[in-house]
Amino acid sequence: MSSVERVYSYSAVLMGSPILLKLFEDNSSVAKAVFRLIKQLEDLLTVNREPSQLMTVNHAAGKHPVVVSQPVFELIQKAKSVSLLENSSFNFTIGPLVKRWKIGFHGDSVPPQTDIQNLLPLTNPENVELDPQTCSVFLTQPGMEIDLGAIAKGYIADRVRDLLHQLGIQNALINLGGNVLALGAPPHSTQKAWGIGLKKPFADPDALIGIMEVNNKSVVTSGIYERYFEKDGKIYHHILDPKTGYPLDNELLSVTVISDQSIDGDIYTTLLYGMGVENSLAYLADKPEIEAIFVTKSHQVICSSERQYRFTLQDSDFHLA
Ligand code: FAD
Ligand code: MG
Repeated sequence: MSSVERVYSYSAVLMGSPILLKLFEDNSSVAKAVFRLIKQLEDLLTVNREPSQLMTVNHAAGKHPVVVSQPVFELIQKAKSVSLLENSSFNFTIGPLVKRWKIGFHGDSVPPQTDIQNLLPLTNPENVELDPQTCSVFLTQPGMEIDLGAIAKGYIADRVRDLLHQLGIQNALINLGGNVLALGAPPHSTQKAWGIGLKKPFADPDALIGIMEVNNKSVVTSGIYERYFEKDGKIYHHILDPKTGYPLDNELLSVTVISDQSIDGDIYTTLLYGMGVENSLAYLADKPEIEAIFVTKSHQVICSSERQYRFTLQDSDFHLA
């Protein structure tokens, strides 16, 4: 009997991102169920088209509270609490600025400084009133907009994992475009671990800096090279600094977080991105459940620790610190 395993790949485009599911059995009904779930959650959480629960909340800014479903409420609650952490670079009310910059969307441009100054006061997370009794959300200032782009894919990845488990699938890989969930392990391979590529920024789509080997983990990467535009030799990418309203500018090209929950991975990539390498390493020292790989503009690759994965460097342009 051959020990070579057959992998069955299924793909879709959802949330403006290529979605890839790998199974070890030919089971298109599982794939359909997965894509249906992602679509359902996208329809609740999107701010890119009408209608969605989140759009209803945003349209009612400055007018009245909106009752949302329990899962949407809990996600908003989580996003608010992370936004209120001291010096947090995660801000779920960044919507007005995201919409003004349009980075990664048609019509992106560098806004005049005055526009940014005028929009910054609309991004105060304190001005979101949450009522757990009724699951209602109220943006108290007109013009405020919630954007869950930095957390929703992680939340959705975790729900996909739950669904796959319900359907009896223990080993699978799902990539939501930057959020990878490696369930179990490839069942028959000699490696017994999933190999997940760390992308080489601003290179060929398939070019890798190296490979992370993980079992049963979420691997989330945020970088400045996926959604950006260039103007007068300067790169403007989609992770905005909530203090300035401009793209976060530090030594980093990308941050990858390895964790059990993909929602944590999604949150931490944004938080750590804003902290920079040194502060992140200190911050993660007492968080063994969260591990990170930083790629810097000077081509250093820095691993916070390697308890839950193994990293192998493949590209000689980069150096392991
Ligand atoms: P992350 O680094 O995790 O998050 C960056 C994103 O979060 C930014 O794109 C912005 O939306 C927001 N953000 C920026 N700065 C901050 C900050 N400081 N704090 C908090 N959030 C911040 N893309 C399309 O092109 N078309 C679509 O129709 C579309 N629909 C989507 C629907 C849903 C439900 C979701 C979750 C995403 C959708 N996207 C769509 C992609 C989306 O616009 C973001 O690009 C994507 O979520 C970024 O994820 P990331 O992991 O790459 O980046
Ligand atoms: Mg994120």
